[in-house]
Parts: sequence; C-alpha cells; structure tokens
Amino acid sequence: MYQPDLDRLVPDYVKGFEAYIPSKPDPELMKLYGVDHLWRLNNNENPLGPPPKAQEVIANFPPPRAAIYPSGDVYYLRQALAKRFGMHPDQFLVGNGANEVIAFVIKAFCQEGDNIITADKTFAVYEWVATFSGFEARLVPLKDFAFDDQGMLAQVDERTKIIFVCNPNNPTGTWWDRDKMERFLERVAGRQIVVVDEAYREFVEDPAFPDGMELIPRWPNLVVFRTFSKMYGLAGLRIGYLAGSLEVVDIIRRTCVVYSVNTLAQEAALAALQDDQEHIARTRALVREEKAFLHEELGRLGLTIQDGEGCFLMVRLPMSDTLAYRRLMRKGVMVRTMTGFRFPNWIRISIGLHPAMEDLVAGLYDILKKK
Ligand SMILES: *Cc1c(COP(=O)(O)O)cnc(C)c1O
Repeated sequence: MYQPDLDRLVPDYVKGFEAYIPSKPDPELMKLYGVDHLWRLNNNENPLGPPPKAQEVIANFPPPRAAIYPSGDVYYLRQALAKRFGMHPDQFLVGNGANEVIAFVIKAFCQEGDNIITADKTFAVYEWVATFSGFEARLVPLKDFAFDDQGMLAQVDERTKIIFVCNPNNPTGTWWDRDKMERFLERVAGRQIVVVDEAYREFVEDPAFPDGMELIPRWPNLVVFRTFSKMYGLAGLRIGYLAGSLEVVDIIRRTCVVYSVNTLAQEAALAALQDDQEHIARTRALVREEKAFLHEELGRLGLTIQDGEGCFLMVRLPMSDTLAYRRLMRKGVMVRTMTGFRFPNWIRISIGLHPAMEDLVAGLYDILKKK
C-alpha cells in the first residue's frame, strides 16, 4: 500500500491550520450531559422558526422534486430580492449560507501574497477562509468592543484586497452608524473591496444604522452580505447572499459554483421574504423583551454584559467559559464559549423563548452559587 506523500502534497498554510470542530448532534449531547431537553442558545438561531409561508413551503415540498437539480442561479429569489431592494437581479449572488459567499469573494480578489483585513474579535470565518486559502488575515484589535476604523486603515497596504466589517458585530453587537461607514468608504476610495456583513441587519431598529443596500449605488466597491439563517429562521437549509454593484458582482460570479443552493432552500427563502413583516416584528419584540429580562437578572448577579444590536449578548463570568459551558449543559442550556472568539471567560447567549431564558438564569445562579 502506498501512503500519500502528505509532506509534499499539503501546502504549508493548510498544514498549519487547525480544523474547526463542530459540536455533536443534540441527541448525543443530551446523552453525554444526562439531560432530556436542550435549549440551543449557541448559534443565534431564531426560536420562532421561519415565517408561516416558509413553513408551508417546507411542509408541502413534493418529494419527487428532490430528484431534480435546483435553479443554478437561484432565479426567482434573485428577482424577488431585486424588487425588494430596488436593484437589478444580477446584483445578487446566492450561496449555501453566507459562509459560502465569503469564499466566493476571497477567491475572486485574492492571489498569492495578498491580504485581507478584519477585526480580531469578530465572526471568524473571514479569517479562516483567508488563512487556509494561503492569504494573510490582518486582525485589527477591537476598540471599546467595536471595529476600529482608523486601526484598519493603518493596516492597508498595496496587497490589501478586501476589508471585512461585521455590522452589527457578532459577538459584541457594536455597529458603525451611517456617518462612520460613509467616512470609512470615502477613505478607502475604491482601493479595496469593502465587505459589510449584515447577517443581523433585520434585527436593527435604530434609524442611524446604515443600510448597506442603499449605499451600493454610491460605493461600487461595497459588497453586502445577508443571510436567511438568523431573522428568517432557515439556518438548517443553508442560504445566504451577497449584493454589490453589477461590475463587482460580475467578477465574483466567476468563482461561484452553481447548484450549491438546494431547491427547498430557494423556495423557502422566497416565501420567507414575501411573508416577513409580521415575523420580523414578532422576533424583534421577543429579542427586546428577553434582553430586558436578562439585563435585569444578570445585573442582579453582578455580571458584566456586552450588548448591542442582534439576537445575542455577551456576559463575562468570574470563571472559565468552558467550565461554565459544561455546567450549564448539565442543566439543559447550551451557550457559546467565547475563548475561540478571543474573549476568554465570556459566553455569548442567543436570545431564546422565555422558558429558555429562565433556565439559563437559574443555571447561572446555581453555578455562581448565589441565591
Ligand atoms: C451566522 C453568521 C453568518 C453566516 O450565516 P450562514 O448561516 O452561513 O448564512 C455570517 N456572518 C455572521 C456575522 C454570522 O453571525
């Protein structure tokens, strides 16, 4: 038997990269921690699920259609997005989750020796895709929990191709207002592609929040990410998209693999988009109410909270986050440890239904031994 010559076959940047280990399926975790239910507060999922029309589409999907390839360019959903945002359908590219469109953009613009810039404590996939593709990821420290515009501009050089800004930021919830975003784009002046990841856009109610879609006509180097995984409750079907100017999206389209978005995801997302008003209002109300509850209860525990926009908040614990995770799991509550986000001793809590929030608070009282 011949062993593959991995030493020669594997690029150094892949050799040095540590694979992400996803958590086990819920039934396995429940066995492991000896619980008969589990509140998932680790992935910012929508506890209300998708909007009713999307639920109908999923329930009524005809099984024979599983044999047929999906629309290769996600035709009808792009039409609907164009109508919603007053843009051209060719200004959108849909992927297998927003995660996939991150890779489209990096592949389209980076070549050997290039770099990307983002923050050190943000959604990690920008950094990961760049690193395991052989490009340098320059990570600029957050300033007061927020993306540091000056710090990022100071890192730009001739080989910088893309700047990723997560707005609002996962996990800190901080965001740039319209003014700050436009000043930043002005300074970049088209020399880089600026990606603004708006995965949590639909949760934001503040009118000072910049809507990336509205900025695209003035800033053709701007690429906006959105997803159906968070507000729209379709994380399990994997569908997200990017939007940008026609010329930039034309380039990115060359690097995207058709058929990566399945038929059910396309149809559920289309229905979700067309039935989203009440769903968004209900979800926002839930997030508002449960965040108020958590602020009161966690404040009583004397814990420091970092909260902004989005369906999550962060809490600093007087103990290791991984230990707190295990203890909360034994009480049927799964949170996100933040050591991997470079926030040791912090956890991120996704906003869930009230009984989940009550179990979380009771669990924290218990592990912090307060009454
Ligand atoms: C969840 C998330 C995404 C990715 O969502 P997909 O499920 O891949 O569509 C992208 N960016 C941020 C900031 C997120 O939190």
